[in-house]
Amino acid sequence: MRLRNKPWAGEFIAEHSDYAISNPENYKGKWHEVFGNQNPIHIEVGTGKGQFLAGMSQQNPNINYIGIELFDSVIVAAIQKAVDKQLSNFKLLNVNAKNLTEYFDQGEIDRVYLNFSDPWPKVRHAKRRLTYKSFLQMYENVLVKGGEIHFKTDNQGLFEYSLISFSEYGLRLKYISLDLHKSDFEGNVMTEYEEKFSEKGQRIYRVEAKYMN
Ligand code: SAM
Repeated sequence: MRLRNKPWAGEFIAEHSDYAISNPENYKGKWHEVFGNQNPIHIEVGTGKGQFLAGMSQQNPNINYIGIELFDSVIVAAIQKAVDKQLSNFKLLNVNAKNLTEYFDQGEIDRVYLNFSDPWPKVRHAKRRLTYKSFLQMYENVLVKGGEIHFKTDNQGLFEYSLISFSEYGLRLKYISLDLHKSDFEGNVMTEYEEKFSEKGQRIYRVEAKYMN
């Protein structure tokens, strides 16, 4: 993600507290109250500029979506999409996803999306990959029993690594696609990165991984 310094980002986020939730630790165990319904809650870790979740929110009004993004200069674009489209089922958290259990209770989340996560190709950085076992354990701690991770990437190395990581953790793999855009998968909502890479002719890999507990 190319970062441009946006000195106004903090103020923008504070002004849009109906979409960008500040102090999310206060809502641990209370996210259904935040949305005002009992609909399932799906999160995207590393949501970037929010194109995927904005599209999913429009496509699935009976699902609540929460985007988690580390950088304030990036998340402002996602907030702007929620504001422009007046999406009542879309919230954003400007936090580090490594602390997910501070924000969500056990079983509060129904699905985790990981889209075009940073690959961290060096072996010594493997622990930073969002599909490393410590992250899989953290997702398990906030997901419902039998919850799922849906993962897309253009990066073959990260995809191969993640299939092994999911499998070693005991997740059941479903719908593995080695070329999503040429597959029969329906209803795909493209992320910003997905658009960029597929325009360059790169293949998109996708898998669904289900916790078996
Ligand atoms: N998902 C978007 C897409 O497909 O267009 C963005 C992909 S971008 C390569 C990865 C994003 O994940 C970046 O915006 C980065 O800031 C965010 N990210 C990486 N690690 C994160 C973390 N620990 N917590 C929150 N966001 C994170």
